[in-house]
Parts: sequence; C-alpha cells; structure tokens
Amino acid sequence: MRGQQDSWTRRRFCQIASGAMLAATMRRDAQAAGATDDARAATRGVVIAPGDLATWPWPKKAKEAGLNTIALHAAPSACAAFMESDAGGAFRAECGTLGLAIEFEMHAMADLLPRALFEKRPELFRMNDAGDRVPDANLCVSAPAAVEVVCENTVAYAKRLRPSTGRHYFWIDDGQPMCRCPKCRGLSESDQALLLENAVLAALRRADPKATLAHLCYANTLKPPTSVKPESGIFLEFAPIQRRSDRPLNDPGIPAHVEALATLDANLAVFGRERAQALEYWLDVSRFSGWKRESLTKIPWDAAVVRNDIQCYAAHGVRHVTNFAVWLDGEYAKRFGDPPLKEYAAAFPA
Ligand SMILES: [Zn+2]
Repeated sequence: MRGQQDSWTRRRFCQIASGAMLAATMRRDAQAAGATDDARAATRGVVIAPGDLATWPWPKKAKEAGLNTIALHAAPSACAAFMESDAGGAFRAECGTLGLAIEFEMHAMADLLPRALFEKRPELFRMNDAGDRVPDANLCVSAPAAVEVVCENTVAYAKRLRPSTGRHYFWIDDGQPMCRCPKCRGLSESDQALLLENAVLAALRRADPKATLAHLCYANTLKPPTSVKPESGIFLEFAPIQRRSDRPLNDPGIPAHVEALATLDANLAVFGRERAQALEYWLDVSRFSGWKRESLTKIPWDAAVVRNDIQCYAAHGVRHVTNFAVWLDGEYAKRFGDPPLKEYAAAFPA
C-alpha cells in the first residue's frame, strides 16, 4: 500500500479536544456501544504478504509474541490462490490450533470488476477527468450493473477466503481515483467508496448476517463522507501512511500528525468507534525499504513511539490495532536478527 505524499489533504481541521474531555466522551461512547471495560486492544495484529509465510514461521512467532491476528495483504485472487494451496491450508490450520485470527486486507477492485469487461461494457468503468471511460482503476458507482458485479465477486471471494473474524477488507484501488461521470462527480471519493461499501456489505450479509466491512481512510479517502451514511456493519480503518515513524502520532509539533488525528476524529464522528481499526506502519519493512526489495532496510524500532501511539489510539476509542509487517520474513531475520514482535505486543497495555 504505497500512498502518495501529495495526496495528503492539506485542509485545516479543528484541534482535537483536550485529553480529559475526549476521555469522558469516549467513555460515554463506549457505554452507548455496549463495549466492555476490557482495556486490552481487541485486535493486536500484523498484516503480511502471503510470500512472507514461506520463509518465516509467522503463526508461531505471532503467538509467542502475544499477538492475536494475522492478515494477508495481496490481491483477492492472490490471497485466494494461496489459501487454496497446501501452504495456505497449513497456515489456516496452524492459526486455528494457536488461536490466531486470520483476515485479508486487500486493494481489490481489479479482481472485483475484472478489467477484461471493459471492451464490452465500458459503462461499468470510471470516467476520468477528460470525460473518457477508462479501465485503469475502480468503477462507476452510479452504474448499478458495476456495483452488482463487484458485489457478486466479493461474495465469491469471501467464501474462498473465510476470514475467521467476519471482518472483511475489500478496499478500492491503492490511491487511485474514483469516477468523474456526471452522476458520480458530485460525490467525493469517500462518498463513492462508501456507496459501494454499503452495497457490498448488504451482499456479504446475505451469506453471513454478522459480516462487517472496512471503509479505508487513506490517500484519496481521508475526508469523511458527507452525502452517504455508513450502514451498520461498516467500520472505519485508519491508515496514516503520511506519518513519520520517529515521532509519536500525537506530537503537536508535526503538522502531518496533527492533521492525521483530526482526520481520525472527523471520521470516527461518522463511522463510530466501536469497531474502528488503526492500520499502522511500525513494522512495515516494505515501507521502510521504499518498496524496493533490493533496499531491504532494518526497522527503525522505537518502543516509546509505538507505546505512545497505541495509547493514543486507545484514548480515541480505537480498540482494533494492526500494522503492516510486509517483507518481515526469513531473509529479513537472517540479515537483521529477530524483529521486535514481542516489543510490539508489549506496547499494548495489559
Ligand atoms: Zn460514475
């Protein structure tokens, strides 16, 4: 997931409320949501590439560290192919034995609306700023047939993937624009994404009434939706890729961090806190390496920053926390030694 720095919206947000006011608000929200008093994060996860499993015993390491969720990050077709392989079957079985949850976090539209349909059905695809239908990314959310195709394919992939938590992550394409057709252009990128997600959730719930679906707040969907309301079962996933890893997220001296937390608050106000998830980058070898495998870089681990960030998310009422650990594999361990998984898990309050 490589966002673009310049896509970080530079709008001014209100400062967040003081800590005491915020904590009181959150307690009320938690009580209203029927949340338990369990202060320990509900999700303490990692997001890795399927290939990382080939050279490093992730389930065993995650369990030893005290984590509880492993998500795979690739296209739905690649995740499904892996899970249907012998290695995928062994992964599912081992996670089951160890009590680890399995999820799949995926930029998905290229699989959900196959680009090969463009030749015969261009009206399903997005319109670009020049007014042309193009099969480069996403879809036209105002085309009922496009939404229908995406829903059908999502349900089919959900059956193949079977996340153990019922939490689904079928994201729009990575930082790619939505539709500019006359019907869509009045809707923001976030509104277009949510319009689709509401339909996808309804389709998923016909097979599993408890299914939930992420709305990813990231890149071009930082602003909360204003025209479309989330159906119950849509949860916020907040991925602050623009952040610095060497400073806490609530450092008031870093404008990008101040904006990030204002973005989080603005979105939590729309989506609620109960199921909200932070998707972080503390262990993301791929990001630290500039997404260049030949530049494999040691994680600049700072326990104090991660501890502070997790407390910050908890103070905002976010109890599901995961983070990318892509390319944290056998080669990484060989070159740099054991990664700080236990330190990561220890950053969650007991
Ligand atoms: Zn459209």
